[in-house]
Amino acid sequence: MSLASCYACNEPATSREHVPPRSFFPEGRRSNLITVPSCKTHNHGNATDVEYIRNSIAFLAGINDAGTAMMQAAMRSLNHSPALFNRTFRSMRPLLRNGEWVGAFKVDLTRLKAVMISTTQALHYRDHGQKWQWWRFFSPTLGLEKTVYQQQPDNWEPLRQLLSNDPCEPRETGEPKIFSYASHQFEAPSDWAWMYRLTFYEGFVAYTWMLAEEQALIERRWSRTRKPHPHGIRTSLARLVRRSQ
Ligand SMILES: [Zn+2]
Repeated sequence: MSLASCYACNEPATSREHVPPRSFFPEGRRSNLITVPSCKTHNHGNATDVEYIRNSIAFLAGINDAGTAMMQAAMRSLNHSPALFNRTFRSMRPLLRNGEWVGAFKVDLTRLKAVMISTTQALHYRDHGQKWQWWRFFSPTLGLEKTVYQQQPDNWEPLRQLLSNDPCEPRETGEPKIFSYASHQFEAPSDWAWMYRLTFYEGFVAYTWMLAEEQALIERRWSRTRKPHPHGIRTSLARLVRRSQ
C-alpha cells in the first residue's frame, strides 16, 4: 500500500477507489479501471447514492448496449426489492413519445450531484494531483418537468446549446463504452478553471466545472438563508418499465 493520502481529504489512504465506482461497470468489465488512493469515508461513504444513481442512469432512453445490460441486472435486483424500486421510480409516469411508450421519472439532483462531483474530484486528482472540493454540476441529458412532459424548452436551454460545442479534449479510459470523459482548462488568469464532461453508457452526459473557493462559500451561505430550491428535483426520460410479478 502506498503512503499517499486520500484523493478528497488529507486522511491517509486505506484503499483505492474506482472512478467512477465499480458498480457502474457490468461483471467481467471491471479490470483496467481508473483508481485513486482513498480513505475509508471517501471510498464507501456514498454507496447508497451510487446504486441509486447507477440504476437511474441505466434506465434512461438513449444509452448503449452496455447500459442496457446494466439495466437488466438492475431490474433483477429491483424485482427483489420493492422498496428500492419504489424509491427510485415512484414518480414514473407513462408518456407517448414518437409513437413509443416511455416513462418519465424524477431524479434526485442532490444525490446525482454528489456522485458526479466525487467522480470529478477523483479524476482531477489523478490527472493534476490537485484536491479541489468546489465544483458546479449540470446535466444536459435531464430536463425540468416542463421540458419532459410538455416538450417545451426550459430555462437551461441556452446552457445546453453552449455546452453542445464545448472545448473538452477526450481522455483515456479503459472501458469507454461504459464511461468516458473529456476535460478543458480555461485560459489564464484563472489557473484553477477546469471543466469536465463525463459520459456514461454513451448516452448520459454530466458537466462539472470548478468554482473558486470564495464563490462557493458565498453561494453556500446564501443558500442557507433560502428555502430549498423548488426545482431541486429534475425529471428525466426513461424507458417505460413494468414490474414483472
Ligand atoms: Zn478521504
